[in-house]
Amino acid sequence: WKHAPAHFRALLEMSRFHDDKVFLVYEDEHLTFEDVFRRAATLAGRLVEEYGVTKGDRVAVAMRNYPEWVISFSAVLAAGAIAVPLNAWWTEPELTYGVRDSGAKLLIADGERASRLTSTGVPLIVTRGEVPAGARAFDDVLGEVTADVRLPDVRLSPDDPATIFYTSGTTGNPKGALGSHRNLGQSPMTVAYGLLRAVAMAGKDVAAATGTRRITLLTVPLFHVTGCFSAMTTTMFSGGGLVLMYKWDPGQALRLIEREKVTAMIGVPTSAWQLMSHPDFGRHDLSSLTTVGYGGAPAPPKLLERITENLPERAPSNGYGMTETTALAIGHGGADYQARPDSIGLPSPVVDVRVVDPMGEEVPPGEVGELCVRGPNVIMGYWNKPEATAETFVGGWLHTGDLAKIDEEGFVYIVDRAKDMVIRGGENVYCAEVEAALFEHPAVDDAAVIGVPHDELGEEVGAVIRLAPGQSVTPEGLRTFLADRIAKFKIPVHVWFRDTELPRNPGGKILKTRLRREILGP
Ligand code: ATP
Ligand code: MG
Repeated sequence: WKHAPAHFRALLEMSRFHDDKVFLVYEDEHLTFEDVFRRAATLAGRLVEEYGVTKGDRVAVAMRNYPEWVISFSAVLAAGAIAVPLNAWWTEPELTYGVRDSGAKLLIADGERASRLTSTGVPLIVTRGEVPAGARAFDDVLGEVTADVRLPDVRLSPDDPATIFYTSGTTGNPKGALGSHRNLGQSPMTVAYGLLRAVAMAGKDVAAATGTRRITLLTVPLFHVTGCFSAMTTTMFSGGGLVLMYKWDPGQALRLIEREKVTAMIGVPTSAWQLMSHPDFGRHDLSSLTTVGYGGAPAPPKLLERITENLPERAPSNGYGMTETTALAIGHGGADYQARPDSIGLPSPVVDVRVVDPMGEEVPPGEVGELCVRGPNVIMGYWNKPEATAETFVGGWLHTGDLAKIDEEGFVYIVDRAKDMVIRGGENVYCAEVEAALFEHPAVDDAAVIGVPHDELGEEVGAVIRLAPGQSVTPEGLRTFLADRIAKFKIPVHVWFRDTELPRNPGGKILKTRLRREILGP
C-alpha cells in the first residue's frame, strides 16, 4: 500500500475510517466509501490481470457523472496507468480524436458514449446501457466484489504521470494536459486551504464550522478538472459526500440540496445564477447550504450581489484555475471577496503568479499583461504536443493566455482572455468588463460581447443578450444604462437579442467562435 498513488491511498484510508459513510450519491443510489473502495480495487486488479494494463498505459473514461466514473478513475490510477477522462459532450469524431491522441489501450464508457466508440478498435467496457458486440459489461468485468481485495503491485512516485485531461477547447482544439500524482495530490490541499481560510475570515472557529459533514453537490462534469479535483478528490480526501447529477438542471439541484442536506455547491458562475433564477427557488428548504463555490469562467460582480441578497449567510467563493493548473490556482472568498468583487483573489500559498508584457518582462502592479503561474499544481506539459508545450511553459512558468493585473496587495484581476479581447481602433476593449456592466441591468439574464469586423476601426463592439423572462429593454436603453458605467468606446454599437440560451461548453464558457459564426456568418 505504501507505493499506492495518493488518490488511492486516500480512498483506502477513508474506507477504513469512514467505511459506512456515504461517499457518492446518484439519483437513489448511495455508495459508501467501502463500496467505492472495494469496487475500485477489484477493478484495478481486473485491468491488470485481464487487460494487461501496466504502468504508464492510458485508459480512457468516457461517461456522464455516474458513480462508475469515480470507480473507474480510481481503478486506473491504482493500476499505475494514466486516466484519460473524455468529454461526454463530444461527438463521435471528437471522442475518436481523444482515443487516438491519448493512445488509450482500453476504454471504459457508458452506453451512450459506447455507441460512439465502437469503431476505434480499442477494447471497450460498458456500463449503464447497451453493450455493443465485442464489448464487455462493466459488472461482468468487475465480477464478485469481496472484502478481501488486493491492490496491484505497482510502484509509483509523485512525479509519475497520473492524468490526461483535455482542455475545454474554448480557443482552439482541446489539448491533453498531462498531470502528475503530485499535481493531483496537492489539489485537495489548495482547495481545503481556501475553505478553511474563508471560514476563519468569517470570524468562525474552523473546528466548529466543519463539525457538520460536508456534502457537496457537483453541478459540473467530472471530466473537467473543477469537477474531478475541486469537488471529487477534495471530497474524498476529507471524508465528505458527493452528490452527482446526470446533467445540470437547476430545478433538480434545488430538490437535491433539500433531500441530501447539501452543505456546499460547486459549479460554474452560471449554475449559481440559474439556481437563483429558477421559479422553484424559494420553494425548497436550502438551510443546509453553507457555501456556494464557482469558477472556471468569469463571475460578474452582480452574481456576488445576488447571492448576498438571495442566499444570505452563505459563503460565496470564486476560484480561478485551468486544466493546466489542476483546477484551483487563485481563489477568493469572505470579506476579501465582498470588498473586491471584480477580483479572483489571492494565489494559493503554493502558487507564484506574475503578469508579464509581450517580451516576458514582469510589469508593475496595476498594469495589464499576461498572467503566468508557477507551482506544484502546474502540469508536466501537453501530451503529444511538444511545440504547444514549449510555447506555453517557459522557464517553469505557465503562460495562461489570460490578461490580468495584480494590485499592490497581491489581488489578481482577470481582465479578459487574450483571444477574446476586442481591439477597436487601437483601443483595447475587454469583453469581460463590458459583460459585467451588462449583467448589472435587471433585464439581462445572460450576455456575451464579441468583436464585429469594421473596415476603419478593425473591430467594433457587439453584444448578444438573453433577456430575463418577462423583461424588455431597447438597444438604446442598454447603451444609456452603460454610459454611466463604462467609457464610450466600450459601449456596444451592435446589440442582438435572443430568447434561446447562449452556447456554452460544459465548463460554463460561452463559445464565442460559434456565437460569432451564428451572428456574423462564416
Ligand atoms: P482551451 O485552452 O482549450 O481554449 P479553456 O482555456 O477554456 O480551453 P480550461 O482549462 O477549462 O479550458 O479553462 C481555463 C480558462 O478558464 C482560463 O484560462 C480562464 O480564461 C478561464 N477561467 C477560469 N476560472 C476563471 C475565473 N474564476 N474567472 C475568470 N476566468 C476564469
Ligand atoms: Mg486554455
